[in-house]
Amino acid sequence: MTGEADIPVAIEKVSYTYQDAFIKREILKDIDLSIGSGEIVILTGPSGSGKTTLITLIGALRKAQSGSVKIFGQELLKAPQRKLVSVRKDIGYIFQQHNLLDYLTIRQNIMMSLQLCGGRISRATAREKINAVLTQVGLEEHVDKRPTELSGGQKQRVGIARALVNEPRLILADEPTASLDKESGRRVVNLIQDLARKQQSTVIMVTHDNRILDVADRILHLEDGEIQSISEAVASSTSRMLRLLERHDPSSSHYLSALSLGLTRVAMADNRMDESERAMIGSALNQASNLSQAEIDLVMELAHTQLCVQGGHGNGKDNGFTPEQSRHFINSLRAVAGADGSIGPEEIDEINAIANELGFSLGSSETTAP
Ligand code: ADP
Ligand code: MG
Repeated sequence: MTGEADIPVAIEKVSYTYQDAFIKREILKDIDLSIGSGEIVILTGPSGSGKTTLITLIGALRKAQSGSVKIFGQELLKAPQRKLVSVRKDIGYIFQQHNLLDYLTIRQNIMMSLQLCGGRISRATAREKINAVLTQVGLEEHVDKRPTELSGGQKQRVGIARALVNEPRLILADEPTASLDKESGRRVVNLIQDLARKQQSTVIMVTHDNRILDVADRILHLEDGEIQSISEAVASSTSRMLRLLERHDPSSSHYLSALSLGLTRVAMADNRMDESERAMIGSALNQASNLSQAEIDLVMELAHTQLCVQGGHGNGKDNGFTPEQSRHFINSLRAVAGADGSIGPEEIDEINAIANELGFSLGSSETTAP
């Protein structure tokens, strides 16, 4: 039987407003959110959309002003401080700034977390737990070093070890890969995923990095104070992307679209694209623009989709459309051509050209003027 106490996160109608002496800003509006045991949820959204605010509400680090926030069945909204403190013991926090204390060794840093959360445990047990968790993150040899002797990726892994040493049932990670290069970022995320699966923990991870979305069981997008479905999120991010391209300067936007499509066509000429081809396309697009990696990924994605619709090489005869779709397509073209009262010869030419590009088998008699 699953009771309320087994549901990691149950949020209803939560709003949050920051207010100072001058202005009042509503950051979260009527949020409803329920996250089940063992789920890995990724939270995305533009900077300033309230992701950190939401994570800190869930983490009992801040109290919402209205609605209901239940963590493992415990209502936090009007909870006294000691209840918040006790809820925090079930939660592992991984932040972008790893917040390690430089004057303590790695062992001592993790020890602090054990003592804060775990209550009284023997020295031997503590030692064992610390060694085990450091082995999991691949840092067992560094146990007696200080944070200043480690790389950024290693420090972030210590941060993870510290969050996981108490085997929390809920892990909150706020942009855990933001300060890492691509490879260490991937390793950190895989690590969080593996450990979460092993400990059956629930994970909520904030990220801007769309290369790690694949670890998620569910992706939530926060925008304008509301949580959007993934299709709404994709639509808004694509149109943002297109606006961004336009703004760059229209000629480079056309050039980028054409270039990405051309490169994708060549790469896909043998009907497959491997990693080296993908990397080469990325680097050519990168030279032609000052878009971020995530934006370039999206341009490539769009080109790929466009290419699939065009049936491979732009003149492919197998467009994958059903006969009914083909009829609908051609009839729609004709309807648009005739919408202004007559179908001109240039419109007929265009219809024929499109039909040809998309591989519709049209008798030429079908598209001549009536
Ligand atoms: P995100 O993590 O999505 O970038 P945040 O939750 O950190 O967004 O912040 C959401 C908005 O609330 C931002 O516009 C930010 O400036 C504002 N904000 C965050 N913390 C405070 C605060 N302590 N006081 C006033 N405004 C704040
Ligand atoms: Mg943030």
